[in-house]
Amino acid sequence: MTFRRVRILILLGILAAVISLTWLEQSLVRSWRGPLEVVVIPINGDGSQQAAETIRALQESDFDDINAFLERETARYGAKLSPAMRVTLQPELQARPPAPPRDGSVLKTIFWSLKLRGWVYRQSDEWLPQLGTIKLFLLYHAPQDGMALAHSLGLQKGLIGVVHVFADPRQAHQNNVVIAHELLHTLGASDKYAAGGWPVFPHGYAEPDLPQSMPRQQAEIMGGRYVNAAGRLVMPASLAQCVIGSMTAHEINFDEGFRRRFAASD
Ligand SMILES: [Zn+2]
Repeated sequence: MTFRRVRILILLGILAAVISLTWLEQSLVRSWRGPLEVVVIPINGDGSQQAAETIRALQESDFDDINAFLERETARYGAKLSPAMRVTLQPELQARPPAPPRDGSVLKTIFWSLKLRGWVYRQSDEWLPQLGTIKLFLLYHAPQDGMALAHSLGLQKGLIGVVHVFADPRQAHQNNVVIAHELLHTLGASDKYAAGGWPVFPHGYAEPDLPQSMPRQQAEIMGGRYVNAAGRLVMPASLAQCVIGSMTAHEINFDEGFRRRFAASD
């Protein structure tokens, strides 16, 4: 065999290994057999003093909200998972992940997501990726009036979230809403809002059996916001105001995962 052929075979082998590892870790996290393992990696998103201070004060318990939310919602779908998630807080990372392409063409996006996965792998300092661990990179920014944060994202392939959050203790609960949303993307949940951030009826609404015109006080987590009595779009103040709707539950394999889990324990 020529050297060229050997090289192609080796590359194909690596590709096959990556694809099967990706598949394996997705089925691991989506089986809901145990708590989700989540690693949180804080990054100073704007180089500000405020972000530096917020990161210094961070504790694993700052993300307890998300576990409480997942415990409550898994219980509502008939499974008891306590804890539903275990957070490991990593020291601040001095590097920033590669930014997503601006125009969002399919090819560029595929290339970028491969680049991001490579970047994440290089940050881990380990020979083998930690299978089934969700990696959330939190980029902290000092809040500025009228300035919106860059778009956060969660990737199912590679279990990676890149989340832009506010470096302000008063925003901690709302940050957790955004973090939980991206976390569920890594498990396969899709967005349930349309242009302008309006949730899509019925699946992007809490209590979807009620008419769309009825005001809500809760949001479906992947719908992101709710429409209040004044007809305005409202960002939930905390995860206490969020639910996992049935479509999202199906996408993140709640039903199938639970069915298998209980079938296995018979
Ligand atoms: Zn989203």
